[in-house]
Amino acid sequence: MQKTFGINHWGKFKRNKETCLSMIYNEQTWKQDAEKKKKENKQFLDRTKRMRGLEKHLPDLHDEAFSKIDCLKCANCCKTISPRFKTPDIVRISKWMGMKQSDFIETYLRLDEDGDYVVKKSPCPFLGADNFCGIYDVRPGDCKNYPYTDSGEFFDHPNTTFKNSTTCPAVFYVLERLKEVV
Ligand code: SF4
Ligand code: SF4
Repeated sequence: MQKTFGINHWGKFKRNKETCLSMIYNEQTWKQDAEKKKKENKQFLDRTKRMRGLEKHLPDLHDEAFSKIDCLKCANCCKTISPRFKTPDIVRISKWMGMKQSDFIETYLRLDEDGDYVVKKSPCPFLGADNFCGIYDVRPGDCKNYPYTDSGEFFDHPNTTFKNSTTCPAVFYVLERLKEVV
């Protein structure tokens, strides 16, 4: 019988849904859990290349993940990796900050090995002590889209998703839940 996606129809977890979901994601231990499951998750993402229709699960899983995970308590992406600052990002942000583009680049950015502008060092200089983004309204497109848990990019770029599985708890969570439905 085909499994129906959705917590209420998820037979295995029906009886004690919250207990089972908390076994998947624990705010304190998710990173160690994700490190332990790296090999398993790599193999799973390789398998998804041959599967069709998995994207349809993402919107629900994305919402479910972010109903449990608070970005303002985490900010792990802003603390450990950098978005790309593409030309429109640089134009928009430097204008918003009242800086010349060249000054903005010189102050905050460096070119990485792929030729993309990224922050000079992590944490991101625009991350506040309260984990709020100081340029939220004009933040780079990559920041808006991260961690791609509600987009086809999740499966289109399995290597990136794999890397993100140990950076972002929501990615780890969505992967764990996906493994239950395929
Ligand atoms: S790593 Fe994921 S959960 Fe944490 S702040 Fe970034 S997007 Fe949110
Ligand atoms: S620009 Fe804002 S959202 Fe993007 S990495 Fe920096 S602090 Fe985080």
